[in-house]
Amino acid sequence: MNLLCVPIAVDAPDMVGLALERAALAASRGASLVEWRADALAEDPQALGALRRLVRESPLPSIVTIRPAVEGGLYDGEDAARVSLLEALGTSGDAPRYLDCEWSTYGRSANLAQKIDLVVDHPAQVREATTRLILSLHDLEGRPRDLLQRIAAMAHEPACAVIKVAYRARSIRDDLEILDLLAERPKPMAAMGLGPFGLMTRVLSPKFGGLMTYAALEPDLATAEGQPTIEEMLVTYRHRAIGAATEVFGVAGWPVAHSRSPALHNARFDAEGRDAVLVPMPVAPGWEPFKASIGEMIDHRRLSFRGAAVTLPHKEHLVRLVRERGGEVEPLAARIGAANTLVVRRDGSLLAANTDAPAAAEALAEGCGLDPASLDRSSFSGRRVAVLGAGGAGAAVAAGLAERGATVVLFNRTHDRAEALAARLRAADESWRISAGRMDSLACGCFHAFVNATPVGMQGGPDPDGSPLPDEVVLDDSIVVLDTVYAPERTPLLAEAGSRGAKVVPGLAMFARQGARQAAIFAAER
Ligand code: NAP
Repeated sequence: MNLLCVPIAVDAPDMVGLALERAALAASRGASLVEWRADALAEDPQALGALRRLVRESPLPSIVTIRPAVEGGLYDGEDAARVSLLEALGTSGDAPRYLDCEWSTYGRSANLAQKIDLVVDHPAQVREATTRLILSLHDLEGRPRDLLQRIAAMAHEPACAVIKVAYRARSIRDDLEILDLLAERPKPMAAMGLGPFGLMTRVLSPKFGGLMTYAALEPDLATAEGQPTIEEMLVTYRHRAIGAATEVFGVAGWPVAHSRSPALHNARFDAEGRDAVLVPMPVAPGWEPFKASIGEMIDHRRLSFRGAAVTLPHKEHLVRLVRERGGEVEPLAARIGAANTLVVRRDGSLLAANTDAPAAAEALAEGCGLDPASLDRSSFSGRRVAVLGAGGAGAAVAAGLAERGATVVLFNRTHDRAEALAARLRAADESWRISAGRMDSLACGCFHAFVNATPVGMQGGPDPDGSPLPDEVVLDDSIVVLDTVYAPERTPLLAEAGSRGAKVVPGLAMFARQGARQAAIFAAER
């Protein structure tokens, strides 16, 4: 079983009571281990007494760690002093389940290693010791160049019961290497990528045989960058349900931290009883990063990668990738030139589909008082819709609405791109009434609806406080405004349009519909 370990920082002796309360809360939320991070406490003269009480009264088995600043901790003192403190704790009668000591300290000095060896369980131990030694390495910058040699050296130490490896992951390639390290572990191991790329390694640790995963009690109590909360691990990512056979899905995009796809799809997998998990997979902008990242996951022999929700800015890249690999692009996605759903079937064949287009039409239909369940090719006849944005989402929204009879005018800050997209979509389907307009004609007063398909107003995006509609555009209760941006729920555009009396449709309405269609494809195409 993969242990869920909650690190709790204890900075001073008077924090011991609070730390024990936090540990009790962690236990009640499902943690199986607590790590007392005594980096700052260790320099206090009362440290030994405080540590003994923490270990003795801990509601969970514990790890004691005094992490020095060079490996990302807060301890600034001499190595000899903190090792002596660990030694004193180990012989005090209040010995923890694990001691964590960095390989950079243990491997550097025979004297320090000897002191640690004295208090941990190992084959040559003469006194009775139940504490196990975690030898660890941390690199906040990136993958250490001598990573494999260091792991081999740690594994070689008879006193080493667990190897812990944590370094900043800079790409999905780093994540896959970390997961491979876990799978090929020479001894029980915890391995994780730090930073936003690393979340996948934390969630998938049980699948690859990791001994433990670290999770914070609350977001502001995290002790490492990218550490999820215990609630995210247990609820959003179903930590306890993940095992060797778990199928892996991703939400691939840039940024992806805000995405609601993990919550949506993991709840679906749970309801369907499917052994699968969907995790955020940050993929830097550009065709090459997308091709390399998704390609490596498809080809990875242990990952069981079964598909992805693909978001900005990679929807057009997905169509290209699936075509290059000889897969099937479903007809609507092929006509749009963009897809948001990737399926990797068990036989290795690929499918790309677009669920944004029908979802946008259904969401806007709701705002227009039409029945989303019975849309046909003339449902939007006589309605003119302005679509802002000419990327993957703009293309899908325009096609989805034109397919159901709307007259669509595309607006984009780079006008040529709107012209090119309109021409391409008309060529893909002659019945689609789609043209491009200049920004200064947005306020013509001739539109029944406006749809924002740019990231303007998106949390973490290029212009989170902005609104894509110029002030001159007249909005009243005859106009419907759909913002495809769904984080935050109430975007600046929706707030402004709502205050001027327009009917507003939040991006979540479209998101839920595209996600439900995507989940149905994931379930049907195996
Ligand atoms: P994309 O392919 O990267 O295209 C982005 C578009 O927005 C381009 O037309 C770009 O114009 C324009 N743009 C970017 N930054 C801008 C700025 N600061 N000011 C004005 N225009 C700007 O992205 P996408 O995949 O189409 O996604 C766009 C948005 O749709 C995202 O916010 C995404 O979350 C949302 N979306 C929501 C749903 C949902 O279910 N609710 C589904 C799909 C997409 P240029 O051509 O000039 O660069």
